[in-house]
Amino acid sequence: MSVPVAPRDDVAMMDGYHSPQVDVEVRLNTNESPLPPSPEFVAAVAAAVGDVRWHRYPDRLARELRARLAELHGVRADQVFVANGSNEVLQTLSLTYAGPGRSVALFEPTYAMHSQIARVTGATVAEGRRGADLAIDLDEVRRVVSSARPAITYLCSPNNPTGIAETPETVRAVLELVGEVGGLLVVDEAYSQFAPWSALELVADDAPLVVSRTYSKTWSMAAARLGYLIGPAWLVAELDKVVLPYHLDALKQAAGLIALDYVDDMERRVSILTEERGRVDAALRELPCEVWPSAANFILFRPTAADADAVWQALVDRSVLVRNCSGWPGLSGCLRVTIGTRDEDDRFLDALSEVLT
Ligand SMILES: *Cc1c(COP(=O)(O)O)cnc(C)c1O
Repeated sequence: MSVPVAPRDDVAMMDGYHSPQVDVEVRLNTNESPLPPSPEFVAAVAAAVGDVRWHRYPDRLARELRARLAELHGVRADQVFVANGSNEVLQTLSLTYAGPGRSVALFEPTYAMHSQIARVTGATVAEGRRGADLAIDLDEVRRVVSSARPAITYLCSPNNPTGIAETPETVRAVLELVGEVGGLLVVDEAYSQFAPWSALELVADDAPLVVSRTYSKTWSMAAARLGYLIGPAWLVAELDKVVLPYHLDALKQAAGLIALDYVDDMERRVSILTEERGRVDAALRELPCEVWPSAANFILFRPTAADADAVWQALVDRSVLVRNCSGWPGLSGCLRVTIGTRDEDDRFLDALSEVLT
């Protein structure tokens, strides 16, 4: 008889990541693109399968992909780090700059993986709160940063799950506070193409700032698991020491490169979804719901006269899946809906209106 092997004490106490994958017809729960990439993109990736030298390890530094991403953003290739989804980018940052004996600051409610990754890598989480309007409150940032002196501070802009984009003034002010304690500011821009501005303009070799991006949302490539960051060259060099060798497979590197030939398609999808977001936002405001204005491809809302768990279940019963955020810090009673196709959004709005009225 063998006994279960004990994990690390801190891992034993962890919850893990909870986003139920329920079998429904309308999936509006994980902020993916409702539209697949173009058939031309898929055909080009299929052709690339034949070009892969399958018996050889891939280019360990993904040099071509870094060079093309650098070109896309007007930076140097040595300022780009690429990994298996932005989650691996953030994990590599945490392994390199946080970890045991160090802390990671973040401001709830925000993307659950920021604290999850910090804990898994052994760091302490210094948890601040957003203001009543769910935007970043600089006094709170000052309080958390000066007391915890975090190695990493996260901002998420637009923030998941609130949809709020921080202003350039806020990000600059946080960068200054973080710099004063020798910390690093990570701005997670998974939804940046929907936002009015990007913190990329603040990235420089003498600023302790990185911006992370993903192919999972606007690029319609969640299945591929590909993300990257733009930051100072000295930081990228440290990450390259920590990440596993050959972590990014050859076909994925090729797919990431090919995607960049279809920027116009991506931008077209963003404009379709932005227009659709306006329509869903207006329709939600006609229902008994509190609605937060969004600069992303999802909307946070709170049914004002019904229990969120019951509403979530009633939507699932109508084969519509949204994200139940009511257990997240500061979000009791809240749900988050991803913007889908017009048909999917109508299915959601009809179901919600049936449930609420
Ligand atoms: C969806 C999302 C990501 C994407 O993570 P990947 O690992 O690239 O799929 C990153 N950050 C935030 C805030 C997100 O909402």
